[in-house]
Amino acid sequence: MSQTYSGGLVEKLAQAIGPEQVLTGPDLPESACHDWSAEAPGTPLALVTPQDTAGVSAVLRLCHAAGLPVVPQGRRTGLAGRAVASDGAVLLSLAAMNRIEEIDITSGLMVVRAGCVLQTLQEAAARQGCSFQLDLGARGSAQIGGNIATNAGGNRVIRYGMARDLVLGLEVVQADGTVLPMMNRMPKNNAALDLAHLFIGSEGTLGVITRAVLRLHPGVAGANAALVALRGFDQAALLLAHAQKALSGRVTAFELMWNDYYRAVLAATGRRAPLLPDHPLYALIEMQGADPDGDRDGSDTMLEAAFEAGMIEDAALARSQREVEDFWSLRDGVAEILSQWATTINFDVSVPLARIGDCVDRIRAALTAAFPDLRFIFFGHAGDSNIHLVAGPIEPVDPSRPRHRIHRLWHYPRFRRLGFGRTRDRPA
Ligand SMILES: Cc1cc2nc3c(=O)[nH]c(=O)nc-3n(C[C@H](O)[C@H](O)[C@H](O)COP(=O)(O)OP(=O)(O)OC[C@H]3O[C@@H](n4cnc5c(N)ncnc54)[C@H](O)[C@@H]3O)c2cc1C
Repeated sequence: MSQTYSGGLVEKLAQAIGPEQVLTGPDLPESACHDWSAEAPGTPLALVTPQDTAGVSAVLRLCHAAGLPVVPQGRRTGLAGRAVASDGAVLLSLAAMNRIEEIDITSGLMVVRAGCVLQTLQEAAARQGCSFQLDLGARGSAQIGGNIATNAGGNRVIRYGMARDLVLGLEVVQADGTVLPMMNRMPKNNAALDLAHLFIGSEGTLGVITRAVLRLHPGVAGANAALVALRGFDQAALLLAHAQKALSGRVTAFELMWNDYYRAVLAATGRRAPLLPDHPLYALIEMQGADPDGDRDGSDTMLEAAFEAGMIEDAALARSQREVEDFWSLRDGVAEILSQWATTINFDVSVPLARIGDCVDRIRAALTAAFPDLRFIFFGHAGDSNIHLVAGPIEPVDPSRPRHRIHRLWHYPRFRRLGFGRTRDRPA
């Protein structure tokens, strides 16, 4: 059947990259058709897994000639439905292109293929005494190609920037199979227009990322971290400014969790609450460094001053790296909320930092009034100026109803009146 539909394309793809790299019909795993979003998958023509850039180029050239759509896929952890199969499309998996080609400590860079998993890169850099500072909850699954294609942010943007800021160069294959080698290795290279940046955040619409040159930073031995309870967002903003000043801009994470999120993550993970769950807002503050024990006094002094100035209601301080990780498990526990709430819709709302508190209050009030059968949680990275809003049904969804009422959220008119359209949705 696929042969008729594709005009022999499947056979040509198999000839180009090897028959075992092309799956169709019942051989095509169902898991390849959808991502972490609630987006309903279509029926793709084939799943192809090229081994190298030449293979990606051959696939794109053939599909281009046949006029067939191609959906590049990393590990499908995106929550916006953009890696979901569409009818008749060819799914292009980068999974086999997972080699770290080089780590150059002197120049502070690593050269990798797009299918490398983020955590693998973090660990490889750490083994060489360096750090690769992109970090997000899906680190154990998401591929660097997917991170770059979505210009992912995450936990350490406040200190190291977005994915864009950690990319020096790229290799990209365009839709007609043309390979663009843009593997710059220098922080300063003003010889010509930096085309690579066009592809960062383009979600596969302009080309397929096949290799990247990534920027490394000095290694860290650990972190000091505190979980603090706050009266509201105004205190959070004051605390962030105070912490940055007291710690000379070395805050590596400032994660916000509103009470609804805090309660939901405790329920979803079943873990003990480090602080009572009755405060309006919580912040996880982290400062990484080469000598976390030596840095502890400075970190404690900063928190004491904040407490005395009335910025903090309560605080729990991590006294070991295990406790630091324990605090982070509260933040990373969003993955468990997403799977337990099953059908969720996830918004990623960027708002200037100063307006985040007001924005959350207004969105929550409007949505709670309009959707009494849904529940909502709010959390976000202050470093990204970004709020995550997850909406899920209070009652379990009937699996026989493919489109739950929750999907009406996409078309909720008051979002526009509040100044927010449908945004690309990437919790975490
Ligand atoms: C628990 C959790 C936490 C998260 N936290 C954050 C966060 O803090 N910040 C944040 O920004 N995001 C976050 N995300 C979403 C994040 O953007 C994605 O997880 C990740 O960056 C996508 O990588 P992936 O390999 O899974 O890509 P996929 O989901 O497979 O693909 C995402 C998009 O990129 C395209 N794409 C994938 N690979 C390529 C390629 N090689 N070339 C061209 N296009 C490609 C796809 O077509 C699709 O449009 C989180 C997700 C989860 C599940």
